[in-house]
Amino acid sequence: MSGTIVPQANPGAGYRALKSEIDAAVARVLESGWYILGAETRAFEAEFAAWLGAGTAIGCGNGTDAIALALRGLGIGPGSTVATVSHTAVATVAAIESTGATPLLLDIEPDHYTMDPAELAAVLANPPPGLPPIRAVVPVHLYGQVADIEVIAALCRRHGVFLIEDCAQAHGAKRNGQMAGTFGDASTFSFYPTKNLGALGDGGAVVARDPDVAARIAALRQYGWTKHYISDLIGVNSRLDEIQAAILRAKLPHLHTANARRQNIASIYNEVLGARAPKRRKGSEHVWHLYVIRADDRDALQTRLREKGIGTGIHYPMPVHRQPAYEGRIALGPSGCAETERASASILSLPLWPEMTDEQIAHTRFTLI
Ligand SMILES: *Cc1c(COP(=O)(O)O)cnc(C)c1O
Repeated sequence: MSGTIVPQANPGAGYRALKSEIDAAVARVLESGWYILGAETRAFEAEFAAWLGAGTAIGCGNGTDAIALALRGLGIGPGSTVATVSHTAVATVAAIESTGATPLLLDIEPDHYTMDPAELAAVLANPPPGLPPIRAVVPVHLYGQVADIEVIAALCRRHGVFLIEDCAQAHGAKRNGQMAGTFGDASTFSFYPTKNLGALGDGGAVVARDPDVAARIAALRQYGWTKHYISDLIGVNSRLDEIQAAILRAKLPHLHTANARRQNIASIYNEVLGARAPKRRKGSEHVWHLYVIRADDRDALQTRLREKGIGTGIHYPMPVHRQPAYEGRIALGPSGCAETERASASILSLPLWPEMTDEQIAHTRFTLI
């Protein structure tokens, strides 16, 4: 089996698996003569909200813009602090800062890599001095697994702050049978090509619970227009284009099967790794956007896998608060993000995508033993 090449992710395989449906969808848009915010986007928004089972969906340019639009739609901007985590795609924090709000980065629970609710409770009860009031919380459902979202939602309600779920890595994940993205005032999704639901280019969506908030977000994504050419709000341009919407419509009905395949591959890895397998939150459905293990000898393991043709990734190698654009000026919770730093030093993402062949799975599995 030497020569078996196993990339860490493989969006091209996702295209080839649905090639005829996707090609037909793209051709339909090209022929239609309408390329931005038209019938495909409206249909995708309706289908995506129905799939989630709650709220109003608004397509936008990417998952980063989705977070910024959700915050702005809820009235969050300068003069507000937004609590999130440092163990996330930098996009989460960049989006908060783009609104003019102040991010506050909390630590993670080391087993599940998601926001530590105890630290959230602490900062909501005793806000850090020198920061504007905390008005929103953005937990990230990381790697395909939900945060401790019921506890976080209860804290947000008790303190009267908005909850926005970053679902960029958790399309279809559940907590006690309830879909990630239905717990908060709004939830945000990325359709970056490697995500569980991926476009073939950039794309994103916000789902808002309140129809008035949804209407404001829909205006904000296009110059603040409420009527054509009339800006009632100071908006941006962040639209989902018709080709990507049509591709997403082709892929959405297959998302459940694709997630099931991810779960199947993860269970094969779990069996080989035993106690070294990632911890799953009890009562939750994990959709395995990434399969992340910890290895004290990470660099050696990564090299050994690479020599066998197996690609890996590190999500993420440097906590946001350590990155040059943020270090020394970003506010941290009282823990100083100690677990985040520990995790980033040893995590490794193994190959996982739905179209992996049995041979690729077996080769990876064998190399891990
Ligand atoms: C991918 C991702 C984003 C950003 O999405 P883009 O579409 O790349 O802008 C935000 N948050 C998390 C957790 C992500 O994984």
